[in-house]
Amino acid sequence: MLLIIIIFDNLIVLGYSYSIGRIQWRKDPSEKLLDRSIGWKLKIVDLTVSLSDRAAVSHEKRVFVKKVREGESGIWMEDIHMTSGIGTHMDAPSHFYQEGRGIDEIPLSQCMAPACVIHLEEKVGDNSDFVVMEEDLIEWEERYGIIPESSMVLIHTGWDRFAEDNRSCSKDKKGCHFPGISSKAAALLVDRQVRGVGIDTLEIDPGNKKELKAHQILLQEELIVVEGLTNLSKLPPKGSFVFLIPIKIAEGAEAPIRAFALVEEVY
Ligand SMILES: [Zn+2]
Repeated sequence: MLLIIIIFDNLIVLGYSYSIGRIQWRKDPSEKLLDRSIGWKLKIVDLTVSLSDRAAVSHEKRVFVKKVREGESGIWMEDIHMTSGIGTHMDAPSHFYQEGRGIDEIPLSQCMAPACVIHLEEKVGDNSDFVVMEEDLIEWEERYGIIPESSMVLIHTGWDRFAEDNRSCSKDKKGCHFPGISSKAAALLVDRQVRGVGIDTLEIDPGNKKELKAHQILLQEELIVVEGLTNLSKLPPKGSFVFLIPIKIAEGAEAPIRAFALVEEVY
């Protein structure tokens, strides 16, 4: 025991602190890492919901089962059985078109880009049937300029407050209700030649729409579609750089992603 304490005492010098049974970061080293190493004053914003049996999933029944087991040699392992479109995830074109590219075929260069964040949370409020229109995007462009080619458009509805809550998909006889984007808004984004579109609801199409037009329009043109983002409130309308990186599932139609953004710190 004494030996362990000494080891952990040493680790404290390196920036760790010790709590029983676990090593915990005393301070998030990533906060200042970019500052120190390359002199950029950048903040990292995590845009990902943790995967658990509370993470939201649309329409289909949620599957998330994590079994912890002790492997040989006394190490701990986990077997996970889950829906690939759970929590913060990406849809590949093959989700809608069988011949379309799978998750593993999406180039990494398409998964990172400067972000245009469309803040609509005040307009959306509690309206679970809110539809993001072409006009909402044009309004953004009137303030911040034309959405640039090869950028990533992120739609902030504020719905991430329900990310681990059944209200993310308030069900009635008509089905599931949550905000999404119109087919015309999707067509405008294809026209702008952006790399992809992300949203903080369960799906890019509004929950109450039977036909998934926005999905079809975006995936047919091989744009990436990301759903279930969180923390978009922490991003400025313009000026951040996002990374939306999927797990590389061979021929996967959907995959959980780690999403984060770099935002310039104002000192
Ligand atoms: Zn989808």
